[in-house]
Amino acid sequence: ATPLLQLESVHKYYSIKKGLFSKTIGHIKAVDGVDLTVFPGETVGLVGESGCGKSTLGRSIVKLEEVSTGKVLFEGKDLAPLPLGQMRGIRRDLQMIFQDPYSSLNPRKRVVDLMTEPLKVLRGMTDGEALQQASWLMEIVGLPLSSLGKYPHEFSGGQRQRIGIARAVALKPKLIVCDEPVSALDVSIQAQILNLLKDLQQEFNLTYLFIGHGLGSVKYMSDRIAVMYLGKIVEFASAKALFQHPKHPYTKALLDAYPVPNPHLRNKERILLQGDVPSPAAPPTGCRFHTRCPLANHKCKEEEPVLTNNGSEQNHHYACHYPLISNPIVRTREEGAL
Ligand code: SF4
Ligand code: MG
Repeated sequence: ATPLLQLESVHKYYSIKKGLFSKTIGHIKAVDGVDLTVFPGETVGLVGESGCGKSTLGRSIVKLEEVSTGKVLFEGKDLAPLPLGQMRGIRRDLQMIFQDPYSSLNPRKRVVDLMTEPLKVLRGMTDGEALQQASWLMEIVGLPLSSLGKYPHEFSGGQRQRIGIARAVALKPKLIVCDEPVSALDVSIQAQILNLLKDLQQEFNLTYLFIGHGLGSVKYMSDRIAVMYLGKIVEFASAKALFQHPKHPYTKALLDAYPVPNPHLRNKERILLQGDVPSPAAPPTGCRFHTRCPLANHKCKEEEPVLTNNGSEQNHHYACHYPLISNPIVRTREEGAL
């Protein structure tokens, strides 16, 4: 299949400025060289601790931000050089669902206007057509028709996220970037929203890039998962392979952060994450996870590992000099063990 989205060496740096003349004294390397492919109809999960660059990457894909360098190929066309204003033609193909439904909807507009304006502007519908479509969308996302006459503050968080979702799917986009769409919601309604997203994916043949902070919702939603650390992808594999046979110590640490029924069984082999994420303004040399990796040695400090499948399992990519072997019982290194 041809990829819907292909990221090639995407970088997003922010300058750190100081003083009267705004002299640039450094850069926050929020996204520092990301390659990623998303195929039509799939959900690719993107997971990592806060500050790893996943939201920035998501916003760069839908052109809410400009990338510094690299290619953002959407259906083969590079969006990176397009100015933010010139998105008209592709805006309806690329939509985003935000983490915070409270802030993503204009509080002074009624839902009917929030829903119909993009339909009129971007899909050229008449008032009547747009209203009909908006009514249908309310039904699709499980809200009563009377919602159209209300303002965002009159809804609960979950209902507001349903409105955000209705707005995103209204344009029949090809790709939706979901940026932690349930993490601001009560646990009791998170599953409902995730299931709604799944149903809509089926119904409208949507492709998702699903950004998550923890692995729970990402596992539930994703066909493939990319793990991000300090601006880079450190592992990318099918959801199943990633959970059953993580290769990268950071992925293993994220998995081990989850409670298990009998923790004693796993305690010996657990990798516990210690310390904070280093500053993206000055990422560590070599493997940027080395300051927190219990398996790090001198090579890790000096040489940066590249994302590779090591010529073997085709779709399992990882960036580590000493990947964990695929045996779930014997957690040791494939080579170069200390
Ligand atoms: Fe750990 Fe070294 Fe692998 Fe980096 S390259 S994750 S420091 S073992
Ligand atoms: Mg975020």
